[in-house]
Amino acid sequence: MTPRPAPTGVTVVTGVIGDPVYHSLSPILHNAAFAASDLDWTYVALPVAVGSGAEAVEAMRTLGIRGLSVTMPHKYAAAEAADRRSTDVEVLGAANCLVLDHDGLITAHNTDGAGFLDGLVAAAGQSVAGRSVLVFGAGGAARAVIVACARAGASEIVVVNRSEERGRAAVLLAGELGRLGSIAAVPDVEIVVNATPVGMGTDPSVPFDPVLLNPSHLVIDLIYDPWESGWLMGAREQGATVINGFPMLLHQAGAQFSLWTGRDAPTDEMERAVRQRID
Ligand code: NAP
Repeated sequence: MTPRPAPTGVTVVTGVIGDPVYHSLSPILHNAAFAASDLDWTYVALPVAVGSGAEAVEAMRTLGIRGLSVTMPHKYAAAEAADRRSTDVEVLGAANCLVLDHDGLITAHNTDGAGFLDGLVAAAGQSVAGRSVLVFGAGGAARAVIVACARAGASEIVVVNRSEERGRAAVLLAGELGRLGSIAAVPDVEIVVNATPVGMGTDPSVPFDPVLLNPSHLVIDLIYDPWESGWLMGAREQGATVINGFPMLLHQAGAQFSLWTGRDAPTDEMERAVRQRID
């Protein structure tokens, strides 16, 4: 990547708020996007303690921070503290992106669902339209995936979750396409998504035994650390088509870049920057 000039008095500041944020790949993705687009913008990681999300949103206005990515635990506080909310944020109650608009008001967006769908197209030329989807998990990421799949024309959405109450609440997001299910439904669906942290980092556990998967399955693990979880490796061994969480990460970031700058995101350069860092 070409070295970037140092920030100046007119550099536009953006960043990510969360706790923790030190591990985030977002600064690499967004700074690569700004550099590739020849924009005098910068993106920094801003650790914000639990309970201080709303104050951080107010600080965004005071400091003139043009855009913020929002990660846990502030996605709900950010949605509430913003002045305006996109349709997805109204439905999900959670935001992963804030935009300080020219009128001084802050709009909350959620780009996770669009990132998931765009990631499928980019990584494997696949769409969920007309296909049955099983989502393992019912937290923030699962809820965004469920809403996106319902809107993109999935034929059925089966939610499998540890706690039944949260699972039932997530099913409602899919309207009449949704039902609460169990792992027993895996052989009958076409697309399987792990939207839990099971298998993340050094956790050796798997959402369920990948032996239930077969070559007709498209399997997506939202985890990208490790790059290929043990479960995804198992799915590959069963002959399934597998996709890790990176395409979603990349494309939800790309959608944020577009919301902030009004430009198409240079996703090839963004991906290259991350691969250079982790290879
Ligand atoms: P979250 O809101 O905390 O939800 C976690 C979900 O996982 C809940 O449904 C929870 O079940 C379930 N769960 C947690 N531990 C479990 C276990 N040991 N066994 C079974 N189920 C378990 O988290 P989130 O924000 O949705 O994130 C979920 C995963 O998606 C994380 O790995 C995160 O890194 C990843 N993610 C990736 C992207 C991307 O761009 N690739 C974006 C967002 C998130 P209960 O309801 O029973 O507690």
